[in-house]
Amino acid sequence: MPPSVRLPERTGDRPVNTKSAAKRLKRRRNVEEFQLLETRVREFDGKDITAFSELPLTKQTAAGLHKAHFKTLTDIQRKAIPLALKGRDVLGAAKTGSGKTLAFLIPVLEILYRKKWTAMDGLGALVISPTRELATQIFDVLRKIGREHAFSAGLVIGGKKLKDEQEALHRMNIVVCTPGRMLQHMDQTAGLMLDNVQVLVLDEADRILDMGFRKTLDAIIENLPKERQTLLFSATQTKSLSDLARLGLKDAEYLAVHEAATSATPAGLDQFYMITTLPEKLNTLFAFLRNHLQSKMVVFMSSCKQVRFVYETFRQLHIGIPLLHLHGKQKQSARIDITAKFSAAKQSCLFSTDVVARGLDFPAVDWVIQLDAPEDADTYIHRVGRTARFEKAGKALLFLCPSEEKFADGLASRKVPINKVGQKNSKKQSIQNQLQGLLFKDPELKYLGQKAFVSYCRSISVQKDREVFKLEELPLDEYATSIGLLGAPRIKGLKNVDAAKTKEIKNAPRGLKALEGASSDEEGEGEAGSRKDVRTKYDRMVERKNINVLTAHYANLVQDDGADPDDEGDFLTVKRSGYDSDIPDPIEMPSKTLKVPGKEIIIDSKRKEKMLKSKRELAKLKPKGTRLVFDDDGEAHQIYELQDEDKFREAGSAETQRRKFLDEEGKRVKEADIWDRQLAKEKRKERRRAQKLRAAEEEAVIGEGSDGDEFRVELVPYGGAEGDHLGQDEDVEVERQPKRQRKWFEDNEEEGEAKEKAKKTRGRVIEAAKAPENLEDLEMLASGLIE
Ligand code: ADP
Ligand code: MG
Repeated sequence: MPPSVRLPERTGDRPVNTKSAAKRLKRRRNVEEFQLLETRVREFDGKDITAFSELPLTKQTAAGLHKAHFKTLTDIQRKAIPLALKGRDVLGAAKTGSGKTLAFLIPVLEILYRKKWTAMDGLGALVISPTRELATQIFDVLRKIGREHAFSAGLVIGGKKLKDEQEALHRMNIVVCTPGRMLQHMDQTAGLMLDNVQVLVLDEADRILDMGFRKTLDAIIENLPKERQTLLFSATQTKSLSDLARLGLKDAEYLAVHEAATSATPAGLDQFYMITTLPEKLNTLFAFLRNHLQSKMVVFMSSCKQVRFVYETFRQLHIGIPLLHLHGKQKQSARIDITAKFSAAKQSCLFSTDVVARGLDFPAVDWVIQLDAPEDADTYIHRVGRTARFEKAGKALLFLCPSEEKFADGLASRKVPINKVGQKNSKKQSIQNQLQGLLFKDPELKYLGQKAFVSYCRSISVQKDREVFKLEELPLDEYATSIGLLGAPRIKGLKNVDAAKTKEIKNAPRGLKALEGASSDEEGEGEAGSRKDVRTKYDRMVERKNINVLTAHYANLVQDDGADPDDEGDFLTVKRSGYDSDIPDPIEMPSKTLKVPGKEIIIDSKRKEKMLKSKRELAKLKPKGTRLVFDDDGEAHQIYELQDEDKFREAGSAETQRRKFLDEEGKRVKEADIWDRQLAKEKRKERRRAQKLRAAEEEAVIGEGSDGDEFRVELVPYGGAEGDHLGQDEDVEVERQPKRQRKWFEDNEEEGEAKEKAKKTRGRVIEAAKAPENLEDLEMLASGLIE
C-alpha cells in the first residue's frame, strides 16, 4: 500500500503540498467562474434591464463600475453592451453625451477577460479616437472602470517621445490611440504585433472613416486580423456600406437609439442662430461675453490663427472672464494643461478650433458659441454637444453671415431645432478702435491679425457647401478694418482648393509627413494645404544666396518658420532651400597636416580632423603591415632574413607557398567563425532564458489576480505609476526638442527653450542693415509677404 500523506493537526508545520493544493483549488474555481460567466452571457437576453448589476459581467468590471458610481444604464448602453458581449459587431448611434464611451469600454474589458487574456498575449484591443484629448478622456474612463482588472493599457497619441511609447507598446493589452500616431508606430516600431487584436473600436467613427483619416485608417486595418470584433460609435453614425466594407463588417447590428426622437441634439439643449455681418462678428462676440461673465463657454472658430488672434486681443481688452485657448498646434503639455483648467473652471471662456468639437466631456458647459460656421450639420451637432450632456441643460448660439443663412435651413432638415435671434441695439458696441490701437502698438499682433484674416478666408474657400459659403459675397475690406487692420491683406491661391484633399493632408500622421517632407497638421483643424504651391517673390528672394535686404522683423519670421515645423503660415512659408550648403565658409582655416609612414595627410576640415582621431580610420590610411619574425634574442627580422634561399625553395614555389598560407589562414578564420557563432548562439539562448524567466515571473504576478494591490498589473498609463501622467514626461521631452523663438503671444513656459533655439539659429539668418523706420515700411513689408 502506498504511504498515505496525513495532514498534521497543527497549522505550524504544514506539508509542502498544501500550497499547490490551494493553487489547484483556485484554478478549479477560476475555471468554474469562467464557465459560469460564459453560460450567463449565452443565456442573457438583454431585455428590460436597467442596472449594470443585471448584466453578465465579471466581478472586476462590476466592481470598477460600482466604484465609479455608475449604476443605471443609458439607452445606448442597454442596447449595445449585451450585443457586444455576445461577440457581435456594433454600429452604435446615439446623441452626444448619452454614454457611448462605456458602451464600448465595458465590452472591451469583458471580451479580453473572457478570452483569458494576460499580459503575455500582447495587444488585444485597439480603441481609435480622432483627437488626443478625446483619447486621453477615453483612457481615463478605462482606468476608472478597469481598475480591478489585471490588463495593462496605454495611450498612444504622440506629443511624447516615440521611443517611450515604443517600449511601452510591447507591454500593452489595450491601446487607446489617435490614427496618425498608431500608423507611425506600425511604420517605425519593430516587432509591433497587431495580428492578435480581438476588438477594434472607433469612437467618433464617422470622423475616423471620413476622407481626412482614410489612408491612415486603411493602413491600420490592413494589419489587423480579419477575425475580430468591431465596435463603431458616434452621434452621427456612418451608414455608408463602402465604409463598413472597408472595415470588414458583414453582419453588424445598427443601433440608432434616438432615431425616433424629434431632435438629433440633446433634449436639454436650446439652440439659436444670429445673423451678423462679418465685420460685426467680433463686436457681437465681445458684447455677448461681457453679458455672460458668470458662464462657462466654448467659442468655436475655424482656424488656429483666428483662435490665437481673438484670444490675444480679447485678453488685452480685459473682458472680465478667464479666457483660455486650445488648438492642435499647441505643445502637448499646454493642451493637457488647458483641457484640465477648463474642465475644472466654473466660469471661463475657451476659444477653440474643432479639436474639441467631438467627444470631449467638459463638465457643466453653459454655452457653445460658434463664431464661424461649422463645415457641415454633423460638425454642428458635435460642437453643440459640448453642452447639455447627460440629461443636463445647455444653450448654443451660432453666428451666420447674411449670405450664410441657408445653413440654418440645412440644420432644420437634420432635425436640429434652432431659432433665430437678434441682438438688442442697446447691447451693441464696437471694439474696432481698440483693436486698431492694439495692432498699431504691436506689429506682431498685427501680423497675427493678417494671418487670422487669411486663414478665415481660406476656411471659407474650402467649405464643401459652395451654395452657402461664398467668399466673394463677404465684405472682406470691412472685415479687415473691423479686426484692426489698415487694409485687407491680398490673398493668393484660394482657387481650386479641394476640401477633401485639404483634410487628407491635415490628418496625415505628423511623423510620416516629416519623413515624406510634407507639411501640415494632425487632427483636421480646417486649415492647411500644400505649402509648396504658393511661392511669393519673397520666397525667391530668400532663395538667393546674397540676401542682406531683410528687415529684422522679417528675418524673425524666417527664423520662426524654420524653427517651428508646425507653424501655420500656409501662405507665408519661406523655404530657405540650398542656402546653408552653398555658401562657402567665409574664414579660411590654415590647413594642418598629419604625417603617417609614407604619407602626409592634409587636414582641411574639422570633420576630417575629428575622424583622424579614430585609430581605426587612421589605420586605413597607413600602409599595410609586413610580417616580422623574432629571433632567439627577441630581435625582429623580415621572414626572408632568417631563412636561406634553398630552404625556401624546398618548401615549394612562392606561389604554392602563398596558396598554402592562404588555405591555412582560411581554415583558421573558419574555425574562429564557428566558435564566434557558437558564442553568439549561447548568448541568444541565455537572453531567451532570461526573457522566459521574466515572463514566468510576470505570469506569477498576474496569477495572483486581485488578491493584493502590490502585485496587480494595473490599468496604468504606459509611463508606469498612477502619478506619472503625460504632462510630466512631455516636459522632459519638450526641453530636448528644438524650439522656435517665443512670440510674445505664446505661453511663458516656452521662454527658456525659445531663447536657446534663438541662440542656435541666430547665425543663420541674415538680418537687414536697416529696420523699417515707419509704419508704412512695415505695412508694405507685411502686406507684401501675404501676396
Ligand atoms: P458620449 O460619448 O455619448 O458623448 P460620454 O460617454 O462621454 O457620452 O458620457 C457623457 C457623460 O455621461 C459622462 O460624463 C459620463 O460619465 C456620463 N455617463 C455615461 N454613462 C452613464 C451612466 N450609465 N450613468 C451615469 N452617468 C453616465
Ligand atoms: Mg463619446
